[in-house]
Amino acid sequence: MAQDPGADRLVIRNVEFIGGMSEKHGWRPDSSLPEIAFAGRSNVGKSSLLNTLIRRKSFARVSRTPGRTREINFFRINNAFVLVDLPGYGYARISKEQKAEWRPLIESYLRRTSQLRGIVLLLDIRREASDDDRAMLDFLAEMEVPTIVALTKTDKLSKKVASERAAETARALALDSEQVILFSAHSGEGRVELLEAIIDLAETGPGGSSS
Ligand code: GDP
Repeated sequence: MAQDPGADRLVIRNVEFIGGMSEKHGWRPDSSLPEIAFAGRSNVGKSSLLNTLIRRKSFARVSRTPGRTREINFFRINNAFVLVDLPGYGYARISKEQKAEWRPLIESYLRRTSQLRGIVLLLDIRREASDDDRAMLDFLAEMEVPTIVALTKTDKLSKKVASERAAETARALALDSEQVILFSAHSGEGRVELLEAIIDLAETGPGGSSS
């Protein structure tokens, strides 16, 4: 079979951890590269999705390091863009004070970045969007950040039910159907589609112009 001429840009050749931002107004990389951020509630499958997407042991090691799970972690990919791993939010079993912690940090990052080209919000395909998920979507809409929703763990549902859930989610959250991607870290469904979508966003200049 002939090689897809566009496939090469989807190859992850290089991944470099550039540091973590642990408090609002704290350190963040002085980056001139476009940034793509990933957000979602704890347990949604974000680590699994990023490990599937990036396929690097070094990446998994950093994201598991104690203390780093509450930070915003920055990874330079192919020297072309920066992947921003936002801390998981709204875990039901932690106290109210801890629960509120993620918000100032994430908001501070979102307000200070001048490089953000898009955000991938992860939602578990079997669950309704939480208040935190909706607050995040509203905040992103207000900031006019292009948003992709990745529906995770699609292997838990039949293909038919999964695509119905995708349509329902798009309707409920007022998104275009192209903004919703079905993803499974177990089967690999959606990996190429999501990678294509984020690389397209990274290659789009600020304000949507082509760079
Ligand atoms: P995080 O807290 O958002 O980083 O979530 P994890 O990636 O640690 O995943 C949380 C749980 O969901 C773990 O038990 C994973 O094995 C499971 N999980 C993650 N992705 C998938 C998936 O695509 N399919 C299935 N069936 N389970 C998944």
